[in-house]
Amino acid sequence: LRDGGGGGGVGNDDDDDEEDEDEEKKADDDEGGARGNATKGSEGAAVEAAVPSTKKSDLYALVYLTSNTVAPQHDNIELGVGDSILIKAIGEASGTSNDFIKKKYEKEGDLGNVAMNAKGRQRTLVGFGAVGKKGAMGGGGPRRLSCVDVLRVFKEIANVTGSQSQKWKVDKIKSLLVRAKGTESKYIIRGLQGKLRIGLAQSTVLASLAHAVVLTRPAGVMRPSAARLNEIRNMDGTDGACGSVHAYPDAARKLCCRPEHPLDVQLEAAAAIVKRAYNEVPSYDSLVDALLSQPLHELHRHCTLKPGVPVGPMLAKPTKSIKDVLKRLDGMKFTLEYKYDGERAQIHMLPNGETRVFSRSLLDSSEKFPEVPLYTQESCAASGVTDFVLDAEVVAFNRETGQFAPFQVLSTRKRTGESAESAKIRVIVQAFDLMYLNGKSLLDKKLSERRDLMKKNFLPIDGKFQYATSMDHKEDGDTAAIEEFLDAAVKGQCEGLMVKTLDENAAYEPSRRSLNWLKLKKDYLDGLGDSVDLVPLGAYHGKGKRTGVYGAYLLACYDEDTEQFQSVCKIGTGFSDEDLRDLSASLNNHTIPEKSPQYNVSDTLACDVWFDAVQVWEVKAADLSKSSTHKGAIDKTGEVGRGIGLRFPRFERVRQDKKPEAATTSDQILEMYYAQDSIVGGADGGDDMD
Ligand code: ATP
Repeated sequence: LRDGGGGGGVGNDDDDDEEDEDEEKKADDDEGGARGNATKGSEGAAVEAAVPSTKKSDLYALVYLTSNTVAPQHDNIELGVGDSILIKAIGEASGTSNDFIKKKYEKEGDLGNVAMNAKGRQRTLVGFGAVGKKGAMGGGGPRRLSCVDVLRVFKEIANVTGSQSQKWKVDKIKSLLVRAKGTESKYIIRGLQGKLRIGLAQSTVLASLAHAVVLTRPAGVMRPSAARLNEIRNMDGTDGACGSVHAYPDAARKLCCRPEHPLDVQLEAAAAIVKRAYNEVPSYDSLVDALLSQPLHELHRHCTLKPGVPVGPMLAKPTKSIKDVLKRLDGMKFTLEYKYDGERAQIHMLPNGETRVFSRSLLDSSEKFPEVPLYTQESCAASGVTDFVLDAEVVAFNRETGQFAPFQVLSTRKRTGESAESAKIRVIVQAFDLMYLNGKSLLDKKLSERRDLMKKNFLPIDGKFQYATSMDHKEDGDTAAIEEFLDAAVKGQCEGLMVKTLDENAAYEPSRRSLNWLKLKKDYLDGLGDSVDLVPLGAYHGKGKRTGVYGAYLLACYDEDTEQFQSVCKIGTGFSDEDLRDLSASLNNHTIPEKSPQYNVSDTLACDVWFDAVQVWEVKAADLSKSSTHKGAIDKTGEVGRGIGLRFPRFERVRQDKKPEAATTSDQILEMYYAQDSIVGGADGGDDMD
């Protein structure tokens, strides 16, 4: 990552194919050399010397392109160009008919490959890439693409609207394809589809970025002793330094990275620091800016929560009983709060008074809930607050009866166009955390302090703004009080309780499903302790009353390590007739010709139709069991060839607020499997569901 370093772009200005191949081979060799050195030695200097450098200006584009995004999530700018536009662009660029491209796509199932092969076919003819040594565009031919070019065009395409936009997009894409070389057209097309499929999750992109920084880091940052290093690594028994940075950010920062320490330790620590920074400021622009200007151990001072940039919300782990809660939080002070059945709302007020609301998936929902900023501002008007970030649940509320209404009612609220007066569904803000106040992040403060500050600065207003009803736990061994509180929550239209540590391990952990927050749902007694959120991968044609719609679906969890969707059940229960119609109609827009390589599904479960991973469904089940058919957590069950599957699954609803990669993970499935009474009680849980 050096200023003006060579080879930053994808290519230079020459167009000679043989030279290109040589260049590619050389690049591969360079890479191999760098890798070899990186693993061979821990001498930072040796590693640095061998790593090919990238221009700083390329880094922003590289990071966005490899993560298949064009802007931070809260900017609400999505790629995802429709297939018909892409087919047209490929056809025009290669001088081939749209029909031909379409047929190839239907046969091969990967439009990126089709684009690449179309280019190959046309190389000696007229279409894209078909430029001679002097080039078809006059002079030296079209300049080869750089990452910066590609991202710029991607952004333009994502932002354009209006009646002429289709033709404009086709022309823009065509211009990229004309300049593309080798496999570039494949990834350009896949990137535009929003389906890059290079097996890179966000966490891998962040880790790569961190590794690049370590490998080019100037000497002379803070150096812990070897003993201290070991101590830090052992602080979190589960995942070493990466885990400990959450619980011990200061200690982990001191890990920043000395050549005499093993390279893997340096890399792991750097990855943890970069991930933590990104969790606080989920914007690659801010992160790369900070990485290029600051040493790693200073990153936290520059990547801190700021009003206007939402952070991933802290999430909770499921529990199945009060006993379980007490066991997990033994000896710690904790509070119990009502778990409201509404929508998560992160409310940000900027110093200029502008107030915005962000959803669980960080989308701006200010237009959907225009009254929320008003209620919140009113609540803190008397305290002279300048800016803040508040965590809350927005809940449907009937002012006449003073009762909450369930999420289903809230979900009928229109996305835009409501006003506080006109909205049919009234809402109330139930605030439960304060993350930022008057110019300072409160994330590292303990919950008891954050809550005090919230109550000091925000006042309850009838029917508009309240704190989450809570009860601090008293360590008198009395579980009856908790049971009563849970009953009262359920009677009051809540889903159950949230249990949160108050003092010890009680920082706010953005984007983390933390052990310091537990959820105790009302139906914990009848099954898994929680519903699961799964992705439909394929479907089976309905028969009898279900003729004409899909009668059953195949669902999967998400494995973060392999980035696969692993099948966990077939589902045919819980759907109303309307659900069946709606789901068939919406998923029919996302069929793919064959099972994606990203799907880990047994051949015995061949679906009639396969879908792209686009939806997330909330599902309840009786229990989880080992299965030789299903693939949930397949590499983690300790039994070769057996995964985990759901028994008696029941459809609840579509989760509009979750992306497929935010579905229940295989690790969560495994954890829920082991938390079942039958397993905890000593049964081997080996009853095969198949
Ligand atoms: P998950 O990914 O954990 O399944 P989810 O979106 O399905 O998350 P739940 O598991 O039902 O949600 O529980 C967490 C959610 O509960 C929070 O995201 C928030 O929207 C809601 N909630 C309601 N009351 C509270 C509260 N007092 N404290 C924190 N969260 C609350």
